[in-house]
This record gives sequence, structure tokens and C-alpha cells, in this order.
Amino acid sequence: MKAEIIAVGTEILTGQIVNTNAQFLSEKLAGLGIDVYFQTAVGDNQERLLSVLQIAKDRSDLVILTGGLGPTEDDLTKQTLAQFLGRELVIDPKALAKLDGFFASRPDRSRTPNNERQAQILKGALALQNATGLAVGGLIQVDQVTYVLLPGPPSELKPMVNQELLPLLVTGEQLYSRVLRFFGIGESQLVTVLADLIEDQTDPTLAPYAKTGEVTLRLSTKASSLAEAQKKLDQLEEAILAKANLAELFYGYGDNYSLAQASFDLLKSQGLTLTAAESLTAGLFQATLADFSGASSVFKGGFVTYSMEEKSRMLAIPLADLEKHGVVSAFTAERMAEQARRLTESDLAVSLTGVAGPDSLEGQPPGTVFIGLASHQGVSSIKVNIAGRSRSDVREIAVLHAFNLVRKTLLKAGILL
Ligand code: ATP
Repeated sequence: MKAEIIAVGTEILTGQIVNTNAQFLSEKLAGLGIDVYFQTAVGDNQERLLSVLQIAKDRSDLVILTGGLGPTEDDLTKQTLAQFLGRELVIDPKALAKLDGFFASRPDRSRTPNNERQAQILKGALALQNATGLAVGGLIQVDQVTYVLLPGPPSELKPMVNQELLPLLVTGEQLYSRVLRFFGIGESQLVTVLADLIEDQTDPTLAPYAKTGEVTLRLSTKASSLAEAQKKLDQLEEAILAKANLAELFYGYGDNYSLAQASFDLLKSQGLTLTAAESLTAGLFQATLADFSGASSVFKGGFVTYSMEEKSRMLAIPLADLEKHGVVSAFTAERMAEQARRLTESDLAVSLTGVAGPDSLEGQPPGTVFIGLASHQGVSSIKVNIAGRSRSDVREIAVLHAFNLVRKTLLKAGILL
């Protein structure tokens, strides 16, 4: 089924309101396995709406109109659709009863003949009742095309869609999705590795999406049951993770999962505490950790040591050692982590020191970051190069690397036992 959404309202075209109704509807329809091929916005203008309807009729099976069901003269969606389909408008008794009830209970509100427009539907249409407002919606099928009328205010549209419209549209198949998350590979590299799977895709489909420092892959399939969908998605996931080193770079599922969440969950389940000493990220790592409720059970406190003097003073590292090795060095990262762990008596400590940019530091280019990790097992560090990124991206991606290091350390069975 090919669906099209037409949002009616001059305010959308002038940028006064964002067309969130289209986004909401697209998401709901996708969930039912209905493909939305077009989203259109048109002003409160009868002639232009008629031309949009003419185009929609020829290319879509389901045409959903939102907005313009109100009582005022510029609310003309229903009247225009009636004209387009050659139907008259009739009163829906249930919607009229609601209108009567509203005005009876609100003597302060004066009723005008225009209010009755809100209770009108196209003759032959199925009324979609409005649980939170007065304008009735409608659904009508003409010449193999289904037209739906919905009110503009999202507070009215959403309940009408959920309670009245979706049950009418449910088909046998639904769309199921699974999101795989990768860290340590760029979007174009991932697309290259998966080129054959992407080229051959029909169902399930896969779509990559790049975020700062990471990439997600959305696998989608149409199926008539969850079990059937899972089987298809499992097969595709297996084929993806068998490619190159993708199994190693894959770290979890879902739109809202993160490396920080993965580390936090592992720390919590193993009953471990973590601290940090941060230079270029100046607390970003610790602030991210504190975003999780229950953070106090894994994070007691830490350090922001931006200057060399504070690295020395707060973390008790001899200044001469820092001067000798430089602050952007494995030596400094490892001492910072070691000292942070010792001073807070935490199980694990992370340190971040490097060059956020745009200028180089100590002869090291922007994006050079050393990340230390101290545990009962000793201390180590990694060097990462986050080249060609803005200052804020370098800091953000450095934090992702740090969480990834914690995650990988905790996943190595028994390392901290
Ligand atoms: P009313 O009875 O309130 O006039 P209506 O069905 O006639 O409702 P509109 O007049 O088109 O709808 O829009 C009313 C309000 O609903 C807008 O001012 C806006 O706040 C919101 N709205 C309309 N269309 C959209 C849309 N596509 N996305 C998000 N909000 C919208």
C-alpha cells in the first residue's frame, strides 16, 4: 500500500509550526508496514489543495490529510475534499451530540453556526471520533483510494490515530526493526564492507546512519509475526557480523543504547566503582556517567585537571615528570589514571589527556588523545587519533573511546576478579 500525508496549514509553510503530525503518522504507518511515499504541505488555499489532491489520487492508495477541520472560514480541508470527490457534507450525530454537550456545559462560550462545521463528515464516510476535541475526523474510500481527514492539533490527532484510525488500517503484516550499533568504524567504511548485502537487499532491508563517532545499522523486515521477523533479522545480523572485523566493533542494540550505558551496566552488575581524571574533556566523561540514575553506586568522584600544574597538584604527580614526558603522552595518561584510582580508592580509573585543537600542542596534531586505564591489574593506555574533527567532536569522541576502553576491559572475563 502506498500512502501519502498532506498537511494543510499556511503556518507550516511560513515556518511558524513544525509538521510533527507528518512525522508521527509516518512512524505509525511504518510500524504497520505501510509505505509512506510522499509528505506534502499545502497552505489554507482551496485551489492549491485541489491540485495536491489530484496528484495524490493518481499516485497513492491511502491519502491522509491533517489540519483545517476547525470552525473558522480558513479551515477548508473537509469542504475541499468534499468538492474534489463530489460528495456532500452531512452531520455526524455523535459528533453533534458532543458539540451540544460541550456548549451546554460551557455557557461562557458562545456557539456560532460555524461550530456545526466541526460535526460534519463527507456523506458515506466513516466518522473518526475526536476524544480530546470537537472536530470529527473521517475515512472514505473512493475509486480504490482511501482518504482520511484528521484534525491539526497533535493533542487531538494522536488519540484519533491511535484509537480510531490504526485499528482500521492493520494489515496482516507489520514492520519490525532492529538497530545494531558499531564503534570504531566510519559510515562509508561500513557501507563498503557490507556492499554486497546492501546491493542485494529487498527484505529485510538495512540502512546505515552515522552519529558523532559511531554508526548504527537499522535492519527492517515485514512479517506477520514477531517470531518470523526475528528469524529473518537473526539471519541478516549473522551475515553482517561475519564480515571483516564487524563482530568486534559491534557493541549493542537499540536506538537509545550507548557505550556509556554499556560500561555503566557492566560496572553495576559487577559491583565496581569507576573514577576519572580528565584534561581535554574537562569533566565530560564524568558528567556522562552521572547522567545515569543510580550513578552514585559506581561513581564517587573524580578530577578535572586541565593545566599541567593541576595535574601535578591535584593528582600528586611530580611536575618534573610531567615536564619531561609532556602532558600529551602515554606516561601522563597512565600516571593520571593510577593516581586517580589510588586517591579515590576506586576499582577502575580512566584518564584522558590530549589535544582538542584547533592548534597543536607539544608538537602533537589536534585530535591526538591518550587514554589511560588503571585497575587492580595495573595500568595501560591507548593512543587515538581523531583527525579532522572540530574541537567539540574531538572531546565527545574521546569520551566514547574512554567508555569503550572501560567496556572492553570489563568484558575480558575475570580480569578484575
Ligand atoms: P482547530 O479546530 O484548532 O482550528 P484544525 O483541525 O483546523 O484545528 P489547524 O487550524 O490547521 O487545525 O491547526 C490548529 C493547530 O494545530 C495549529 O495552530 C498547530 O498548532 C497545530 N497543527 C496543525 N497542523 C499541524 C501539523 N501538521 N503538525 C503539528 N502541529 C500542527
